[in-house]
Amino acid sequence: LIQLYIPLNFLGVMYREMKQAFTDMEKMFKLLGENREVADKPGATELQVNGAAVRFENVDFGYDARRAILKDVSFEIPAGHRVAVVGASGSGKSTLARLLFRFYDVNRGRITIDGQDLRDVTQSSVRSAIGIVPQDTVLFNDTILYNIAYGRPGAPREEVIAAADVAHIRGFIEGLPDAWETTVGERGLKLSGGEKQRVSIARTVLKDPPILVFDEATSALDSKTEKSIQAELRQISENRTTLVIAHRLSTIVDADQILVMQEGEIVERGTFRELMALGGRFAEMWRLQQEEDRARSTAARDEPPQ
Ligand code: ATP
Repeated sequence: LIQLYIPLNFLGVMYREMKQAFTDMEKMFKLLGENREVADKPGATELQVNGAAVRFENVDFGYDARRAILKDVSFEIPAGHRVAVVGASGSGKSTLARLLFRFYDVNRGRITIDGQDLRDVTQSSVRSAIGIVPQDTVLFNDTILYNIAYGRPGAPREEVIAAADVAHIRGFIEGLPDAWETTVGERGLKLSGGEKQRVSIARTVLKDPPILVFDEATSALDSKTEKSIQAELRQISENRTTLVIAHRLSTIVDADQILVMQEGEIVERGTFRELMALGGRFAEMWRLQQEEDRARSTAARDEPPQ
């Protein structure tokens, strides 16, 4: 009986492992909004990156043909510049990032990187040119070393450690009892929101892409962590073409350009100073956010000590 039990038990373990792996993959595809229908056209060539200028030209898009999400969206991120997108929840900000990563094709207009239409080049070459720091990072049930190295599978250990250094998570990892071999994810150590974002930054540092997309976390991190993560993001976005999807307006004051989205359209654009001088939608959003921040800090001050 024991002879039968061992292989059966082994198969059971294997099955659980595989099922977990699929769950992780599914979760990742879901989070990234992957659409498996977009395919390379016959004879698609590799994207040739030369500075990585991004252009959206008169883009219309809807997930469903009956409901338009983006309407005539045009903007450019010159090579190495930083453009921030702001707007109410559901206005289409993350959709811009999904289209740039070519999870979906546009319904009208085109998106180019260095003049090449995304539909003419291979998906894999587009995706290897773009690093995404998402709102919520997917962790695999594996070691922290594996989870960071995922940014560039096969990267030497020293480079993984150097990337963790840039993301300010090396000290935390090396202070854990199992250090780099610590299992993280649902079945291992649960990382905080800030730690997960740092894993994601380290992955991106390792990937070293010419284009970056930051989808700022909506859930508030404590203000010290948030400031330091912002500084790291700024450091790694230096000289890279960057699209920031921002929720806190204070983090994008120095962007080269700010796009204000409303119901799938860009309704205002300019630098922070220009938009404040305009006194329109952005200036109103800024005023409301300042008021909220003030109310929050007053509430915190009035709270009785614990
Ligand atoms: P938030 O600030 O809340 O992240 P957002 O501005 O990034 O919002 P998007 O995620 O781009 O908004 O969504 C724009 C619209 O598209 C929303 O109305 C949303 O319901 C819809 N949408 C998003 N993803 C899908 C999808 N996979 N299928 C169908 N509709 C979707």
